[in-house]
Amino acid sequence: MSLETVLSRIDQDLPAATERLLELLRIPSISTDPAYKGDCQTAADWLVSDLQSIGIQAEKRKTPGHPMVVGHIEGDGPHILFYGHYDVQPVDPLDLWDRDPFDPAIEEAEGHKVIRGRGASDDKGQLMTFVEACRAWQSVNGTLPCKITFFFEGEEESGSPSLIPFMRENADELKSDIALICDTGLYGDSTPTIVTMLRGLLGEDFTITGPDRDLHSGMYGGIAMNPIRVLTRILADLHDDTGRITLPGFYDGVEELPEEVLAQWQGLNFDHQSFLSEVGLKEPAGEQDRMPIEMIWSRPTCDVNGIWGGYTGAGFKTVLPSQASAKVSFRLVGKQDPDAIRKSFRDYVESRLPEGFSIEYRTEKGSPASQMSIDNPMFEQARTALSAEWPNPAAYVGCGGSIPIAGYFKDILGTDAMLIGFGKDDDQIHSPNEKYDLSSFHRGMRSWARILDALTKQA
Ligand SMILES: [Zn+2]
Repeated sequence: MSLETVLSRIDQDLPAATERLLELLRIPSISTDPAYKGDCQTAADWLVSDLQSIGIQAEKRKTPGHPMVVGHIEGDGPHILFYGHYDVQPVDPLDLWDRDPFDPAIEEAEGHKVIRGRGASDDKGQLMTFVEACRAWQSVNGTLPCKITFFFEGEEESGSPSLIPFMRENADELKSDIALICDTGLYGDSTPTIVTMLRGLLGEDFTITGPDRDLHSGMYGGIAMNPIRVLTRILADLHDDTGRITLPGFYDGVEELPEEVLAQWQGLNFDHQSFLSEVGLKEPAGEQDRMPIEMIWSRPTCDVNGIWGGYTGAGFKTVLPSQASAKVSFRLVGKQDPDAIRKSFRDYVESRLPEGFSIEYRTEKGSPASQMSIDNPMFEQARTALSAEWPNPAAYVGCGGSIPIAGYFKDILGTDAMLIGFGKDDDQIHSPNEKYDLSSFHRGMRSWARILDALTKQA
């Protein structure tokens, strides 16, 4: 039967789908707090039986922490995996909530309906958009359009300690043609997105030592080299006047955007002035020959996150400190190699140290950027399907932060991941009064039905 029939089934079933989501939201599955361990089990059980109710072979799977929920249904065509997480963030401070976070309800907010409660958006509401799309498909067609694996985690909000081992141990079972991840948001209020670039991260934490003890500037000032003077000069020279990072080889592996993606980004009309004015700023600080949106999504960065040394207490002490320290981090893109950049950074810093100075590093592990290959035709099929549902065409976007799960699918399973989500910037995920627009929930389900149709029709 046609896609239109599935879509109207979704429309008719919206009240019942909302009731099911409210039921799931009532389970306080806070993963980080051991007091809610039983509730995490309950949420996993709820999902297992909900999946079973639409003909999916689902079970709870043990991990050293909270269980995974894994479900399968056989079918022809591509093998699609869907990932979401059933755990939620803690709710404190509780007194800032207008209602009990685990007594969710539909409320009016600024003229539209929202589902209010912890997890409404992140990620129970988002997760259920896919499940509900499958339910509607199943009830219209008696089956699902292809082989689908459901993979729900219960530790996403507490660092996913069991995820990598579980994916490794069950790689054959979880390997698929594409992984769909629903834990991101729209651009603005009505432009659907597929995240295809996630920046990596590298940090360097180090201390330089000059004189072997703190000195008095009345006695040594002028003749002794001050480590803070050395450090600040080193840090200041990491950027040139155009915002470019000066480390030799730093831009190796940084790629230019494909033309169609560049055009999509231009079409988003990112308003950097209002973005910056919200935090009291005016001027974009990245490479001056780049669009501001590129600075956040597709260009690498270098930032000093902390700097200390000498006397910083009340009053004044004319000390020439023995040591000065800093934390510097880099957001990485494309094929930049964290190890090569670490080496370049250290060579640069050490080449600038005066004779007799020493340096000590406290190393943290770096992670490269993740980049999805939009040459995989499934990306364009999904983008076209999303564009049919929303007022604005869907765009491939970057993400300035990191969402490690996407990289895990690629690295551990060799599967491309599509991050598609229907959250809004003001959903207040992780904060009091979390909400999810009822229209996002509804349109999210319709979007997945369209995507399933597009991915399976053309396979
Ligand atoms: Zn989430």
